[in-house]
Amino acid sequence: MSVFRTRFAPSPTYYLHLGHAASALHVWRCAEEMGGDVLLRIEDIDTTRCKPEYTAAIFEDLAWLGLSWSEPVRIQSDHFSDYRACIDALRARGLAYRCFRTRSQLENLTDPLSPGPHARSDEQAFLDAGQAFAWRLSLNAAREVLGSTWDELAYREQVHGEMVSHKARPERHGDIIIARKDSPSAYHLAATHDDALQSMTHIIRGEDLIEAPHIQTLLQVLMGWPQPIYQHHQLVLDADGKKLSKRQKSLTLADLRKNGMTALEIKQRLGFA
Ligand code: GLU
Repeated sequence: MSVFRTRFAPSPTYYLHLGHAASALHVWRCAEEMGGDVLLRIEDIDTTRCKPEYTAAIFEDLAWLGLSWSEPVRIQSDHFSDYRACIDALRARGLAYRCFRTRSQLENLTDPLSPGPHARSDEQAFLDAGQAFAWRLSLNAAREVLGSTWDELAYREQVHGEMVSHKARPERHGDIIIARKDSPSAYHLAATHDDALQSMTHIIRGEDLIEAPHIQTLLQVLMGWPQPIYQHHQLVLDADGKKLSKRQKSLTLADLRKNGMTALEIKQRLGFA
């Protein structure tokens, strides 16, 4: 059997809810069916929203659900220098540029998703003035660097057991931010870097991230990282058919547990028992 390695990668911005439980149970079940491994990864690069107590609660909630993972768990905030090194490598190849623009300045541009580099003199003046900036990945530069490979960018997705090949269209998302003004890395760069570092063969996550492979494929090809197979699962919806959000605090696993619900009842409710 070929190697199957996947991960569950929550962001500790609040306590886990039923949607996370469904996602985790699905990921662990897929790995079990394939005789593979699941790694747990804590995606806490957003240092303003992520809190250690939510990370601790993730460990507690997943263990309560009967899920186990190997140690050490990768905690992204311990590895900012890895993401910084990727940004430096992209910069050295002319693939990243500084963006000092504010949200309202971006809104006034004809193409707010791909604002492009500033004029050199403006950039120097902003730097001299100590203004904060984000790093963006330049699609124009990527197109140039990749040549004909740009038109062949593609990724594989498993849909109901069938392998489907999709053309990757990073242009839908423009010059994505790879490091935010207030954080040394942004989601796509950190997650894609870690998926490669941790030798993921399969990325299994909710349909809310169905667009992510369009961007992540480009990063993989630019950085020479392997391309995993993607799967997207349905999201758990509330009674009104809306996505469960972290704002619905009554539905956290911690609260359900406190109110006497058992892990088995959670699994039954979500169709895993
Ligand atoms: N950390 C992301 C989240 O909690 C998941 C990222 C991923 O699975 O790639 O939404």
